[in-house]
Amino acid sequence: MGNARCHQSVLDCIGHTPLVRLNRMFADSPAEVYAKLEFLNPSGSIKDRIARYMIERAEQDGRLKPGDLILENSSGNTALSLAMVGLQKGYRVKVVVRDRVSREKLDQLHALGVEVVMADSSLPPEHPDSYNNITPRLAAQTPNCYFPDQHGNRENNDAHYATTGPEIWEQMEGRIDYFLAGVGTGGTLGGVARYLKEHDPRIKVIAIDGQGSVYHEYFHHKRMVRPGEGLVEGLGDEFILPTMDFDLIDDMYQVPDREAFQAAREIARTEGILVGVSSGGCIWGIERLLGQTEGPARIVTIFSDGAARYLTKIFNEEWLRERDLL
Ligand code: PMP
Repeated sequence: MGNARCHQSVLDCIGHTPLVRLNRMFADSPAEVYAKLEFLNPSGSIKDRIARYMIERAEQDGRLKPGDLILENSSGNTALSLAMVGLQKGYRVKVVVRDRVSREKLDQLHALGVEVVMADSSLPPEHPDSYNNITPRLAAQTPNCYFPDQHGNRENNDAHYATTGPEIWEQMEGRIDYFLAGVGTGGTLGGVARYLKEHDPRIKVIAIDGQGSVYHEYFHHKRMVRPGEGLVEGLGDEFILPTMDFDLIDDMYQVPDREAFQAAREIARTEGILVGVSSGGCIWGIERLLGQTEGPARIVTIFSDGAARYLTKIFNEEWLRERDLL
């Protein structure tokens, strides 16, 4: 993308994704809305950026050595990105995913030959076998193992400060009023927000949290709530993570599951762009933001992945109806 010559490695195709104006969805608004199409990264999501960045940093300082196993927990996208980067560089990859991960992501992980451990998402966060607890334990027990730890590793944020942030700044020629993105680890939002605010402190940053996550209540009232159920893969968490940069966030909305799924369906039919559910959450967030702004605001958001990873959810009316999402 942006480079007419051939690439010597698929890893050289990571990043430099297009930023496109959404012309039809917001045709009646004076605002200009732009989305960064991160599903055009080679493995299909924004997580290619952090996979490459974390792995190369670890190679440089010796945390990762030839022949090592890369072990990580992920809502599926980081797992797929680590698999692609790991395979290119000759590492084995093993991942922990929640049992509610989409069929499509699981099939892709198996296609790549990744070893998958399934975490029971009904377990409470403090349970030793909960999604967040299994991986550090497995990593400690496994020799020659590198645990990137996207949920606690600030290189996650740094990857976006180094790549996604500058790309957006250049593509928008520095004229941005709002940056709005989903938060899972918070790495995307934190890294991009830090870069953008350093260049223009007037830019307002809005985070989209997922249903059932603890972030929203913590951001607004500094209170910890019990995590609940949520169906948007990639958004929210059950802990306050070190990768969440609350001080860079000006406002946070929590998208109800139904709204995220509906917005993903709507954008497919209005713009012809097939986005994942968390991107639907961002669209819902922009609609809410537009209700509070006047005039020609320039808004940038991130489409972290595409609908191909969730076709059996987003466009399956029976699945949606069973969960009261229609
Ligand atoms: N959307 C999707 C589909 C994701 O997989 C993730 C990653 N968890 C996010 C949004 C949020 O990104 P981040 O972890 O950088 O906050």
